[in-house]
Amino acid sequence: MSSSRLPDVGTTIFTIMSQLAIEHGAINLGQGFPDFLPDAGLIDRVEAAMRAGHDQYAPMPGVPALRQAIAAKYQAHYGRSYDPDAHITITSGATQALMCAVFACTAPGDEVIVLEPVYDSYLPSIRLAGAVAVPVAMRKPTLEDPRYRPDWDAVRAAITPRTAAIMINFPHNPTGAILLEEDLDALESLVADSRITLISDEVYEHMVFDGEPHRSLATRPALAERAFVISSFGKALHATGWKIGWCCAPARLTAELRKIHQFMVFSVSTPMQHGIAAFVADPAVHDELPGFYQARRDHLAQGLAATRLRALPCPGTFFMLADYSDVSQLPQQEFVRWLTTEHGVTTIPVSAFMVVPERVEPRIVRLCFAKQTQTLDDAFGRLRAL
Ligand code: PMP
Ligand code: GLN
Repeated sequence: MSSSRLPDVGTTIFTIMSQLAIEHGAINLGQGFPDFLPDAGLIDRVEAAMRAGHDQYAPMPGVPALRQAIAAKYQAHYGRSYDPDAHITITSGATQALMCAVFACTAPGDEVIVLEPVYDSYLPSIRLAGAVAVPVAMRKPTLEDPRYRPDWDAVRAAITPRTAAIMINFPHNPTGAILLEEDLDALESLVADSRITLISDEVYEHMVFDGEPHRSLATRPALAERAFVISSFGKALHATGWKIGWCCAPARLTAELRKIHQFMVFSVSTPMQHGIAAFVADPAVHDELPGFYQARRDHLAQGLAATRLRALPCPGTFFMLADYSDVSQLPQQEFVRWLTTEHGVTTIPVSAFMVVPERVEPRIVRLCFAKQTQTLDDAFGRLRAL
């Protein structure tokens, strides 16, 4: 082999920390996945699909019943009418949809603005497409506003004639930040009269708390007409390993995306698509998720209150940030190793989401609360010893 397309890319932090957790028998609050089972009714439907002989290739854009169910969900939740045939494509999780979207809307040398902290797959996807990532820092918590927020002025300042796309992720992994109406207004004015495509990663769309709605880009015609809106059943169905996701986009964007999709995977697991379609046919199936996860968020926050870790506000996702300044002065990467090996609790360093080293906040880690109450309680027992 003469060269590498990703010379400085190693194994992802999620894989490394999960492996370390296994080696040391640690409670894994690192990599984002539930430690409980999906609904038995969902498993029954996938089994029924397998027994019904849905064993061969699915249609390239996805099983029609699943695309119809997704269209019904966008209509019910976000008031937007996507045509299952022209606008919706089923992918192998959100990860593949994101990579296809980047390839579909950039040419080599184009710039793609990303918000930092940035999810780990975005930069390699942009690089593989021959485009250039432009990281723009999110606004950090202040005394007046203790939340992470998108900084649209900074995004505006980063736009150049080469900007092909802005890639966003709300609810945001790892900070939990969510979109407000004023954010959608700002984004609308930023991209008006431009050729910029939006890539919106909304995999945590059903994990928004405290009575707030999820403000999908699909809710705004002026944004939806230039957006790839991407999500995944991994989080919503408590089955991250099933890897069924989707992309909703206008016909011209969908046509480009499918050109890539058909040669990247062609189509994705047929019985899974049929089984999920039967389970999610009623858009109300997701209605309990915000309350379900809000209870877990509150349980984690209460548990951390009895430790020397300081929880940060968490408006969305199934991740919470915590400041460990009162426990240790170690840099993040060293702290998470120490916490795993010496105290048996695994977390993720937020520095793994940072591109510009100077922007790394010294002592913050991410904890996943998609866990059984007992798992969290066991972790509290260990964390109280810190
Ligand atoms: N985007 C974000 C922000 C994520 O946290 C994840 C991880 N679950 C993904 C995309 C990937 O989703 P999937 O597992 O469906 O590929
Ligand atoms: N999205 C998950 C997280 O943020 C990880 C998925 C993966 O391991 N690639 O923890």
